[in-house]
Amino acid sequence: MSSPFKLVTGAEDSTSSFLPAFGQFINGKVVPSHSGETVDVIDPATEKVITKVAAGNKQDVDDAVKAARAAAKTWGKTVPKDRADILNAIADRMQELRDEFIALEALDTGKPIMVSEIDIDLTIDCFRFFAGACRAFTTMGGGQYVEGNTSLILREPVGVVGVITPWNYPIMMAAWKMGPILGGGNTLVLKPSEITPLTTLKLAEVINDIVPAGVVNIVTGSGSVVGNALSSHPNIDLVALTGSVNSGRLVAESAGSTLKRVHLELGGKAPVIIHADADLEAAAAGVRTAGYWNSGQECGAGCRVIVHESVAEEFTKHLVREVSTLVVGSPSGGSTVEIGPVVSKAHYDRVMKAINLAVEQGATIAVGGHGFDGNGYYIAPTVITNVSPTSSIATEEAFGPVVSVETFTDEAEVIERSNATMYGLSASVWTSDAKRSILAPQELDFGTVWVNSHLILANEVPWGGFKGSGYGRDLSVYAMEDFTRTKHVMINHA
Ligand code: NAD
Repeated sequence: MSSPFKLVTGAEDSTSSFLPAFGQFINGKVVPSHSGETVDVIDPATEKVITKVAAGNKQDVDDAVKAARAAAKTWGKTVPKDRADILNAIADRMQELRDEFIALEALDTGKPIMVSEIDIDLTIDCFRFFAGACRAFTTMGGGQYVEGNTSLILREPVGVVGVITPWNYPIMMAAWKMGPILGGGNTLVLKPSEITPLTTLKLAEVINDIVPAGVVNIVTGSGSVVGNALSSHPNIDLVALTGSVNSGRLVAESAGSTLKRVHLELGGKAPVIIHADADLEAAAAGVRTAGYWNSGQECGAGCRVIVHESVAEEFTKHLVREVSTLVVGSPSGGSTVEIGPVVSKAHYDRVMKAINLAVEQGATIAVGGHGFDGNGYYIAPTVITNVSPTSSIATEEAFGPVVSVETFTDEAEVIERSNATMYGLSASVWTSDAKRSILAPQELDFGTVWVNSHLILANEVPWGGFKGSGYGRDLSVYAMEDFTRTKHVMINHA
């Protein structure tokens, strides 16, 4: 089968003048790790080492928690307006350095410039949203519920929050946590993914003159050492992880020893349910973006199409045509590149294994399914057909530029099949039937359900899953709720 894909690349360059200073960020200072060890940061487009970061350890986490605990005393007493001013100042600083952040995020993750631009713009908007949200956020009204007693409900910070972020949207996931955590009056210790730590470290550095020392601390290193030290730490009040289901399980288990609160945003395997009455061309164009954005390394990716059998052939034709036009290349390939390399060699091997396993289990590659010669972890955008609903490609997260297509016969069956998975993050329904567009989302067991679109997000609306996709909500005022606590004060004046 000949491939429609050709890599679009520019001059190979794994350098940046916008790299963070070497070290971790603790109590407003860049400091080395007690371990003295380092981790290489690799450019996925060239496979070259960009720089090294410190491999943090438990002692570094202890230092950072101590700083965060001390800073919480004053930060927790600030009024929302003051915290909002600081969140807006962070947004302003990022806006000034927008081009540098776009380039650094693209270099570290391999994501195309067009994806990185949207990441940075959404990140800036996230800080602005929480600047407003923390001022408008309220509790239930006080009042007399027992004769002679007046109740007040206070909204308080939780305290010190441990944050663990993934590699697919490094700076954006950091902002999704920092916004409500700081807006709610908490301080934090954040561990970025060891694979993509650069923009998070740089953010801490460039906002150092804006945020009081100790309010934001960054410790770099592995999940098993630094992540585990955060989730088990006795002086952290809440741990928030965005990552895989397996890491979620480990974090929840280790957080159990200190009974700290846990906030989990985990994996997904979003079904895209296409009914016979749907606009098939629009649905195919929708999957072209929703299935492949960020090279499919997206927890909400529309990666599992379930299409009515009567229109499956026609839809698949549209989808293959759409996907064949995707432009694959490196960040240096310019603004038309839509699909970059996947993030690492280990991840490349995982995604290729998932594709090969699908074929072994009887599926067909309709387009793509291959890597590329030369440097970089590139995988061609792939559509897989003849997929059985119980096969691995239909049920397990591949987290690459891969969409599988299954068929269904009746509505009850497609709802049941969509719900019969451990994941519950997001789903979409494509239909022109008004009644179905209201009723189907109510039957689907997912934290977000789109109708006639997929993967459209806004900072005002909540994001988060059910079942194996975790609990807790990012974005919106619901995140403000998750990162604060209520206190009831009852005054007896009888
Ligand atoms: P990962 O679970 O491997 O790593 C995520 C973070 O957890 C990293 O910082 C890692 O170092 C850390 N970690 C790993 N083991 C740990 C442990 N034992 N204790 C504490 N921390 C640990 O995930 P990833 O590969 O970086 O990211 C991809 C995953 O994240 C996918 O499953 C994806 O669906 C999910 N994700 C979910 C959302 C969402 O909003 N629900 C958003 C982005 C990514």
